[in-house]
Amino acid sequence: MESGRRNYRFRVYPTPGQAAALERQGHAARALWNLLHAAWEANGFRVGLDWYTQEIKNIRKDAEYIWFADLPAQAAQAVWKDYFQAWRNCWNPEHPAKAPVFKKRHTRMGVDIPQASHFKPTRINDKYITVNVPLAGKIRVRLHRKVDFTQVTGAHLNRDGLGWHITLRTKTGPIIKPTAHKRAAIGIDRGVTVPLALSDGTNFWHPDFTTATERTTLLRLERRLARQETRRKKTNARTSNRQRRTREAISAINSRQTRRRKDFLDTASRKITTDYALVVLEELDIGNLTARAKPKPDPKKPGVWLPNNAAAKTGLNRSILNEGWGGFRRMITYKAAEHGGQIVTVDARYTSQTCANCRTRGIRESQAKFRCTTSTCHMFGITVNADTNAAEEIETRGTELASSDTTVATAPPAPTTVSIPPAKVPIESPPSVIGNSHLHQLHLEVHERYLRH
Ligand SMILES: [Zn+2]
Repeated sequence: MESGRRNYRFRVYPTPGQAAALERQGHAARALWNLLHAAWEANGFRVGLDWYTQEIKNIRKDAEYIWFADLPAQAAQAVWKDYFQAWRNCWNPEHPAKAPVFKKRHTRMGVDIPQASHFKPTRINDKYITVNVPLAGKIRVRLHRKVDFTQVTGAHLNRDGLGWHITLRTKTGPIIKPTAHKRAAIGIDRGVTVPLALSDGTNFWHPDFTTATERTTLLRLERRLARQETRRKKTNARTSNRQRRTREAISAINSRQTRRRKDFLDTASRKITTDYALVVLEELDIGNLTARAKPKPDPKKPGVWLPNNAAAKTGLNRSILNEGWGGFRRMITYKAAEHGGQIVTVDARYTSQTCANCRTRGIRESQAKFRCTTSTCHMFGITVNADTNAAEEIETRGTELASSDTTVATAPPAPTTVSIPPAKVPIESPPSVIGNSHLHQLHLEVHERYLRH
């Protein structure tokens, strides 16, 4: 069983000077990422992974790369690791990640502190501690919950629209809290009409994650950003401070929305894992569900397109993305482990059209209603709540699976176990020396394309 590896996220309060140092580190990390990516696009596998490590060491010594001094060696190593992990994820058929791309200036900024020994936590008072961040010094962290610092293995600092945050990575064995579960098993249907419908009839609702005012503001800001971007492109200018401010304002609203969603999912998953021992989730192919509706050509009139329900599908997509399924599954998995429970995922096809009582297909009368059409079933002809029925069917499938399979997955597969597949490009002898001039040229190109804006 996967041990209880989990992350804790806290708000940090750097001084203006420290914030500037963190920004510089973030930009340097991004520049290094882009440099690696440019080198990869030029050389790929042919040169071997060690070549890239050596390149980092070389450019560290190179006076041309003054910005590199803003990035601690450990953090540079972390960029290297992240970059190649991104490729591994991309090659892993189980992982939804796409190929790594260049990071633009407004990509979410982050700084890694790979080793816990670096940031000696010191308590200031009940609420605040300081941690030692390389090249930035002691930074204040608001500790809103307890963390066992002996278990912390590393950290990541990142900035979203609300400011800087630190994510502490911990490596602990599963902490089993003595839990008296109320019920053995529960099925969860992650519906569109109800965010989370449980097989015992419980529904988890949440208010909109954005307020009406925020939505109006967001719309206005997005239009402004589009205008500013058009103007910038026309004049081939650098991003103005005004445009940067627009982006930051948009980011702040989005971050608030993310935080509210996380709160909801946190609360729901905590309640569910304390109440139920076996939690059954549907395996949901998000990639497939959120795909855009295909254009439908009219067979009689070439060049004419039939209605394809694009608007309806887009609405559905939005609510699916809105609920943050992936995050929910991760949260509920580690919480179940803490409470000595289990998570099972089942194939969810036709759960919304199957009677949970007799297990035959019935009629989904509407998004909200389901009716069994098998005359021998005691639910025959009775209209029931479609989401609850689907959740019951999910629960049944999960309990069947759990009793037939002793190796029930308690954690999603770790992407880290995937090894790099053999080279797709023909192996040639590595270029003996790629001089600084070559790398320098590469850097100039990257700078021109991705760093200026
Ligand atoms: Zn039935």
